[in-house]
Amino acid sequence: MSESKNISVNEYPGGILAVDSGLFRPQMACCYVIEHAGEAAIVEAGGHLGAQRLLAVLAQRGIAKEDVRYVMVTHVHLDHAGGAGLLMEALPQAQLLVHPKGAKHMIDPSKLEAGTRAVYGDEKYEQTYGSLIPVPAERVHEVADDERLDWRGRTLRFIDSPGHASHHYCVHDALTNGWFTGDTFGLSYRELDTENGPFIFPTTTPIDFDPDALRHSIGRLLDAEPDWMYLTHYGRIGHPEALAPRLVEGVDAFEAMGLEFEHDDDRVARIRQAMTDWLMAAARAHGVTLPDARLRELLDMDIALNVAGIDVWLNRRARRARQ
Ligand SMILES: [Zn+2]
Repeated sequence: MSESKNISVNEYPGGILAVDSGLFRPQMACCYVIEHAGEAAIVEAGGHLGAQRLLAVLAQRGIAKEDVRYVMVTHVHLDHAGGAGLLMEALPQAQLLVHPKGAKHMIDPSKLEAGTRAVYGDEKYEQTYGSLIPVPAERVHEVADDERLDWRGRTLRFIDSPGHASHHYCVHDALTNGWFTGDTFGLSYRELDTENGPFIFPTTTPIDFDPDALRHSIGRLLDAEPDWMYLTHYGRIGHPEALAPRLVEGVDAFEAMGLEFEHDDDRVARIRQAMTDWLMAAARAHGVTLPDARLRELLDMDIALNVAGIDVWLNRRARRARQ
């Protein structure tokens, strides 16, 4: 790991860099730069701060703005796509590759901004993301399921991967046999690594968490028998075949918590308590020895977002049942 101008960058084989996007705390969210055949591509735009950091890292590495061919956003949640407009303004030759269900929100981000304000609240929204910049429609390419892109001999393959978000794709990099997983392969923070390896758990952020779809998408990622997963939260992890069952256990557990408290008057609080207990116990069983307070600090924001997403999912189930 190198610290240049206080931007932490992890360098992996295959010309892949993970750039800390500076969201909320160090090593919470990253964006990737892929250098290949004299060009570069970006996976995840971060928020505005992340996009600015990406541009700084490109400059530090002597990558010309004109040589960035692609900006890929795995989905249009703002920790992944909030900085896309800023990047596209700065990178004149780049094409924005986005899921068909997310494209309109990149071209006209007003609804996306309003939706995210609703999730985070205005104050936190302003601090974190700020106003979104629209991307001209002619620079937006909607990727189809199983679309393959030949980038100067390096094959990138896209799959539709709903479950965390309906507008989510994952990108397979043939050169390193790795997936850029966005949020489909969950969250794995490096502070929670132990001798048992990475700790991993699902993210069920509002508004379209779908446990069945998520399990299916995780299965499709494994079908490629990948060697690596490049997570947005956070960095590269190996042995996906060993981690996937633990991730799916988390999906199952969070789904069960939602169903257990579905009809409880106080269900948000009950689910939050159940999820906190489950994650703390799972982290301890994994061998995490951080003090409780530090562990809570690392998990609290995700717990709040996860519980909110499960609440929305339960409301959607109830609406469907009434139809
Ligand atoms: Zn995310």
